[in-house]
Amino acid sequence: MAKKKSEMFRRILQTFKVSIFPSKCLACGLFFHQKQDKPAGKTPFDQIVHDPIETVFYRVMTPFLCSSCLSDFSPVQSPFCTQCGRMFESKSGDNHQCGDCIQNKTLCSGIRAAGIYRGALKSNIHALKYNNKVHLARPLGRLLFSSFMKYYNASTIDYIMPVPLHISRLKQRGFNQAAMLIRQWPVLFSQTEHRCIPIDCKNLARKRKTLSQTGLGKKKRKQNVKDAFAVKDKSNISGKHVLLIDDVYTTGSTCDECAKTLISKGAKTVSVLALARAD
Ligand SMILES: [Zn+2]
Ligand SMILES: [Zn+2]
Repeated sequence: MAKKKSEMFRRILQTFKVSIFPSKCLACGLFFHQKQDKPAGKTPFDQIVHDPIETVFYRVMTPFLCSSCLSDFSPVQSPFCTQCGRMFESKSGDNHQCGDCIQNKTLCSGIRAAGIYRGALKSNIHALKYNNKVHLARPLGRLLFSSFMKYYNASTIDYIMPVPLHISRLKQRGFNQAAMLIRQWPVLFSQTEHRCIPIDCKNLARKRKTLSQTGLGKKKRKQNVKDAFAVKDKSNISGKHVLLIDDVYTTGSTCDECAKTLISKGAKTVSVLALARAD
């Protein structure tokens, strides 16, 4: 009874706060009044799983973005390449392999992303990584989980691994953004009929310090991460399907290098899921 009363009091206080104090949009910086019917973290789970990704973005980001930025989201839409995930310019037809992927066998298979790295998604990834807005990991992680449920058969994946940071970068930033995005996934899995896929943040490590990939061309990016990763316990990944998680997928150099390392140590398949991808 006391719990019910305090919850009611909290809601009244929240409604009061929301109606009096505007929030600052985390993408454009303008002040806006939050919609009171959609408090943070209250998105019904079945909507996260079944709604189109742009609707999920709208729902999970409502507390953080003004209405203009809420509509500034570009989802990855069909038709796209079944291998590298790049969207085709033509908006008709089914998903299929692109010419590049037919000619060049890639190490990663089934590369997918929730949205294109621009607009409000880009601003929010920046806010999370560089402005310490760690509370964004929860809504963005739910958006990522929504993509996961849409694109993958959970029963075929053995391990989920975030792309690791070097220990020096980890100390400097204080967290690995890719690991933060999937921290609540065990709870989300428990609401599905699927078993919780083990999340392993330790087995794959970045053994060498690398430059930030930002601003580097494709060739330089490849050189920058060459032999940068190591697997600590190969018995764990032998014959397994690993899903790599990253915040942004650009040229794929980092994920390819991770995949090369994992496959050389016995992993059977490496797939990639990112929050955003370059178009
Ligand atoms: Zn805005
Ligand atoms: Zn392709």
